[in-house]
Amino acid sequence: MKIEIDKNSGFCFGVMRATSTAESELEKEQPLYCLGDIVHNGQEVERLTRLGLITIDHTQLASLQNAHVLLRAHGEPPHTYEIARQNGIKIIDATCPVVLKLQQKIKQAYTTHPDAQIVIYGKIGHAEVIGLEGQTEGKAIVIENENDLSKIDFSRPIILFSQTTKSVEGFNNLVNTIKTRISNKPTDLTPNTQSSTLNSQLNSGIHFEYHDTICRNVANRIPDIKKFATQFDVILFVAGAKSSNGKVLFNECLSVNPRTYLVSSADELNPDWLKNIESIGICGATSTPKWLMETIKQKINSIL
Ligand code: SF4
Repeated sequence: MKIEIDKNSGFCFGVMRATSTAESELEKEQPLYCLGDIVHNGQEVERLTRLGLITIDHTQLASLQNAHVLLRAHGEPPHTYEIARQNGIKIIDATCPVVLKLQQKIKQAYTTHPDAQIVIYGKIGHAEVIGLEGQTEGKAIVIENENDLSKIDFSRPIILFSQTTKSVEGFNNLVNTIKTRISNKPTDLTPNTQSSTLNSQLNSGIHFEYHDTICRNVANRIPDIKKFATQFDVILFVAGAKSSNGKVLFNECLSVNPRTYLVSSADELNPDWLKNIESIGICGATSTPKWLMETIKQKINSIL
């Protein structure tokens, strides 16, 4: 039986940075609190909890005084920093630099274009999106799917950004839909590239500006993981239930290999999946630790 772990799967740069920051801070000083799950992977949260990391929510943050609190890669809205300042809390900021840059771009757009609607293509209620909305005093419009488009006034200026983990295809579709909904055809709209700025004026006189702010650490994995998924009889995709990019990457694997199964831990492995096959590929999300994929490989070996 061939069993292989995808070498391109596992923590992205931002998550790696956040977890290693937690580990090094825990060695220096405890207690160390983390605002929200450090990563959307229950197994990794449990590992860091065993090392001493204490996960808290925003209500608990408000009642903490003079403590050390780590902010995870997703980032936080300005209100969180304000609470920390008021309560004498030392922030260890592990916000991913890619997210930080996006927050700054949204804040700049909001302050320099007070007439425009700031639109974020993302998952409503996702921690990163809450941090992004916070840059606009909560006024940004979050679009998760076509049903949310009614929130946009297509007769007013629109500046569109994306949550870092959304799919490029979904973003491009949204751009085209917005163009269509604005009455006249655009004169000079061309596809934007990541982190560049586009100012466009439609024939209708409506300003529509869009920024592809999708993180390529996620987007670039799609072609690689699809190729990987075609090379095995069965694919075990390892990810936590809350992982956004996990859902995206799992569906990409499933689209090319119908025998793709989602597991969050070795306990969820179903021995029936391993019958009458010659090869198994193990891969995962940007929030999936390498050690967890190794554990699943060991479990498969123990079953066979
Ligand atoms: S997916 Fe990209 S933006 Fe998100 S934490 Fe990883 S590196 Fe940062």
